Formats: sequence, structure tokens, C-alpha cells
Amino acid sequence: MQKLIKHIEQLKACRLCPNMHPPVVSGGPVVSRVILVGQAPGDKEPKLGRPFAWTAGKTLFGWFKEGAGLDEEHFRQSIYMAAVCRCFPGKELKGGDRAPNPQEVKNCSQWLSRELEILNPKLVIPVGKLAIQQFLKFDKLTDVIGKQFKVNFEGHSFDLIPLAHPSGASPWHRMEPGKTLISQALKLIKKHPAFKELS
Ligand code: SF4
Repeated sequence: MQKLIKHIEQLKACRLCPNMHPPVVSGGPVVSRVILVGQAPGDKEPKLGRPFAWTAGKTLFGWFKEGAGLDEEHFRQSIYMAAVCRCFPGKELKGGDRAPNPQEVKNCSQWLSRELEILNPKLVIPVGKLAIQQFLKFDKLTDVIGKQFKVNFEGHSFDLIPLAHPSGASPWHRMEPGKTLISQALKLIKKHPAFKELS
């Protein structure tokens, strides 16, 4: 626990990317064998001080409650919440959130690497294309959602069960085959031994 608390103190002080908007968003020092990896916070999360605090979070926690029997409060207490980038990237001129650039993704990957060392997870759940791409090469979401993969990543071995991003910006998760594949992914998560052991 002490290692994780120290890690989060260092993470929160990070200002490595000049075009990112602090503060850094963290879900706190939750010691867990299950890690969720999001993409990057939106504009509400830095103000509310936790990941998935707004509409995408409502959808995500709804999936877990309905499909895996875990409500938001217990999720936040028992699953470590990481992300590809931990700061809000800002808005595009057109209005949507800016996608983190490759250098920002590389800068922020050090934090995830350290979390894998500290927590040694047995199950990693990447949420959305950018997060899944950090672990797997793939073309279409339909190739990876609803499936479980054995991954060796930076010397760590764990199971990976990807989810689509629950944001309102993409209709993929509200249409078929997305709905069915997400429901299959949640069934796999629910029966995974590391998920079953969450207190
Ligand atoms: S995005 Fe990551 S690496 Fe960049 S400033 Fe924020 S915490 Fe640091």
C-alpha cells in the first residue's frame, strides 16, 4: 500500500506534457489484482477529482452493475483505475476532446508500467481503442470485444478483456453487434478468478 500511495503522490505532481491540462486525475491507491485502463479524462473529471466521473462513467458503471453485479461504489473501492493519459488533453476546435498525441501517450506510459510492477494484476480491462492498442494490435473493435486474451506486456503476464469506450461520441456500444459483444465481455469479466476475488 505504501508503494502505491507514494506512486500516486508522484503521479499527481507530474507536469511532463506542456499541452495537457492539470490536475492529474487518479482513482486513488486501490490495491487490486484488477486494473481498468481508460483513455484520458474529460473536462469534468479534473474538477470532480476522479476518473469516469461524468456521462461516460454512468454508462461504464451501468455496464458493470448490470453485466457483472458490481456497483459504482464497490467498483471504485476494489478496482485500480489507470488510463493511457492521466490529464485532460483539452478540446478540439470542433468541440470534441483532443486525442492525446504519441509523445503524450509515451510520457504517460511510465505511470502504467510502474502500476503493473506494484500491483502485478491478473486481469486488465482496457476501455476504448486507444487503451486496447497499448496491449494488442487489432483492426476493428469487433475483433477484440467479447474476447479474452493472454498478454505478456513489459515482462508481466495477465489476462486482457477489452471493452469499448462508453462515451456518447460513438454509437458503437449502443448498436449491434456492439451491445452483444459488450455483454459477452462483461460475462467473461464476471467469471474471471481475479474479479471474483474482489472484496
Ligand atoms: S498526461 Fe501523464 S505524463 Fe503527461 S503531464 Fe499528465 S500525468 Fe504527466
